Amino acid sequence: IGDPQTIGDIVRHQGRERSNSIAFEYEGDVLTFGELDRRSNRAANALASLGVGKGDRVAYIGKNSHIYFEILAGAAKLGAVMTPVNWRLARPEVSYVVNDCQAKALFVGPGFAELVGDIEGQLEHVAGIFGSEAPEGKYPGYPEWRDGFPDSDPMVPCAVDDDAVQLYTSGTTGYPKGAILTHGSIFSSRMNERNAEDLHDWQKTVEGEVALLAMPCFHISGTGYGLGTIFNGSNAVVLPEYDPSRALDLIENYNISKIFMVPAAIQILLDHPRVREVDFSNLKYITYGASPIPLELMKRAMEVLGCGFVQMYGMTETTGTIVALGPEDHVPEGSPRMRSVGTPLKNVEIKVIDADGNEVPTGTIGEIATRSPKNMKGYWKRPEATAQTIDPEGWLRTGDAGYLDEDGYLYIQDRVKDMIISGAENVYPAEVENAIYSHPKVADVAVIGIPDDKWGEAVKACVVVKPGEQLTEAEVIAHARQHIAGYKCPKSVDFIAALPRNPSGKILRKDLRAPYWEGRDRAVN
Ligand code: ATP
Ligand code: MG
Repeated sequence: IGDPQTIGDIVRHQGRERSNSIAFEYEGDVLTFGELDRRSNRAANALASLGVGKGDRVAYIGKNSHIYFEILAGAAKLGAVMTPVNWRLARPEVSYVVNDCQAKALFVGPGFAELVGDIEGQLEHVAGIFGSEAPEGKYPGYPEWRDGFPDSDPMVPCAVDDDAVQLYTSGTTGYPKGAILTHGSIFSSRMNERNAEDLHDWQKTVEGEVALLAMPCFHISGTGYGLGTIFNGSNAVVLPEYDPSRALDLIENYNISKIFMVPAAIQILLDHPRVREVDFSNLKYITYGASPIPLELMKRAMEVLGCGFVQMYGMTETTGTIVALGPEDHVPEGSPRMRSVGTPLKNVEIKVIDADGNEVPTGTIGEIATRSPKNMKGYWKRPEATAQTIDPEGWLRTGDAGYLDEDGYLYIQDRVKDMIISGAENVYPAEVENAIYSHPKVADVAVIGIPDDKWGEAVKACVVVKPGEQLTEAEVIAHARQHIAGYKCPKSVDFIAALPRNPSGKILRKDLRAPYWEGRDRAVN
């Protein structure tokens, strides 16, 4: 037998190699690799009894837990495909996702039985609904059900190209789409990592290490992270949902050495009153990404937390990270690379293209495209969207605008859809936001394009002022002007109480734009 390459194989392998090591810790419960392997066999046999087989989807709605990963592994051993549902969605959206993926079984985490009860009648393909704790409302408990089935491994043959998990995109720019990730897309890059000699310290697998899984499993940053720790054979402490106070407790008490956080999560951690009292000396690396990070925030994080930082760039469609900026490039003063998301991971190709798909010269802004074994197979049941996103040569259009420098470092400007075209100039909101965010009285900021009769679009800033502070439109514009060119500066400023964000902490600029564009078409929408 060669190296394990599917989720099932890796769980079997770790079950043999490190049976008594901890795979997941969740609210005081411990799940060893041996138990993960056995339980996932029982889960697979239980799912098979419902008629779940190869290619079938299995849905999970709930906060993070170790149970999620054991069901995912059980489904994978049957060739079935876990589809986690964003638990923050409204009822009609949950029904949409469960029906869209045609889930045959649905698992309900603590606190979600009522929601599922309300939509149960609309679920078209579901043959069984189980609560994670018995009894979850009217639903039978999953653990009891699972334990009624044998420990024997179903041994369904499974290939690297088979569908493994289906994750819906964050819905930042439109309706969430189901991205089909294969076993190969999940593990291909990791196989290389394991064999490579010239790895960075932050990429290395360290036995006995404890990672904190703090981001939601319905997002690639949660599911990808958890599968990564299974692959590495390391221990992951699972937080049901991100909470800065609990994250600080766990960092102190569990010797957490690695965490992935989105920038919004880093910001609320730094704002926590206890942050200055916590000992961060065991924390080796914070990896972060999923949205742009303001430079001021990064500086503060480096000063207060004192660990290594690694920025990651990627998306659901690329099974997470494809480009990374290591700690050596985190030099806030004097390193232009602080503004970069770094260089491609091994086996990842990146190019920047124009509207016709032709590669543009180094330093020129265009749309970022990527090719690697990490690319998704396609969008579930959306052949047109898939064809628009992945070309016949396997290049995937990211929808992000950016450029490459001479050293191969990638700089993200912003999403193509959020770019503001004002006169003949392109303005990238992230750059303007970064300039405004450096004002000491600004708590949060989003920049959008609004209709303008003369310029087509005009730059508008939506600013959240820090509590107890006062700020005027003229002050915001004057501050921006000190950092960026005049045409990039906002022409107007709205002061608002809070920015609309999705659960990955991404600013929903489309929601901020909507009232201004009512009844009109935006060129790039
Ligand atoms: P949808 O595709 O449904 O609109 P989404 O693109 O936000 O939602 P995700 O796949 O979760 O869904 O996010 C990927 C996007 O996040 C990337 O295309 C990019 O715009 C942004 N992103 C990821 N990492 C970074 C980073 N390090 N810096 C800036 N932006 C990032
Ligand atoms: Mg996207």
